[in-house]
Amino acid sequence: MKDCTIERMLGLPQRFLSKKENLELPETQVLLKLIDVFPWLLKVADSGYDPIITKRIMAEAIGDEMLKNKCNELIKKYPHLYADPNPESKEPRYYMQIGGFETYDGWYDLLDKLSQKISDYLKENSIEGFYVHQVKSKFADLCYYPNTWKSPAPILDMIREAEKEALNTCEFCGTQEGVKKRSGGWIVNSCTPCVDRLAEEAKERNRKRNEGK
Ligand SMILES: [Zn+2]
Repeated sequence: MKDCTIERMLGLPQRFLSKKENLELPETQVLLKLIDVFPWLLKVADSGYDPIITKRIMAEAIGDEMLKNKCNELIKKYPHLYADPNPESKEPRYYMQIGGFETYDGWYDLLDKLSQKISDYLKENSIEGFYVHQVKSKFADLCYYPNTWKSPAPILDMIREAEKEALNTCEFCGTQEGVKKRSGGWIVNSCTPCVDRLAEEAKERNRKRNEGK
């Protein structure tokens, strides 16, 4: 996005972002980082910080993010595990309904395998009432939270096994080659090519931003 557009949407003086002394301000740096992570904040500012419009903008942004995450296809594939049984409810019952899988696509296959194994076990043993509350990557560990800690031991074993596999699986591409915990602002399990690619993409975004003056 061009700097003049950002300046207009935020209500900053024209050419504010083209002045070196402004760009070097820590608050400008923080602002640009926030916009990089949450580009929809610009729409919030453009709405005049209208609280009602802001809610719609946030809901749309979450919907867009959910569509971008391949892991969220598992909600449709295994609705008995991940979908809200009462979608009409005003208060979503699971975190899954609010933000979906809080993981990157590289873990899709292992989550698919785990979902299938749990589903088969539930079916074979006619178990009802088991669902999954939240799935996320926390400090590069897979956290898979069922609705109950009284889950059958074999299911807990399946979860532990998948969590162990995730430790050696790149969160971005799914490879098991050369995967390490890495910190680039936030901690991820990643292979070297993916870390390099992400760093390159961040550089490219910066370059484009600087060119947009
Ligand atoms: Zn990778």
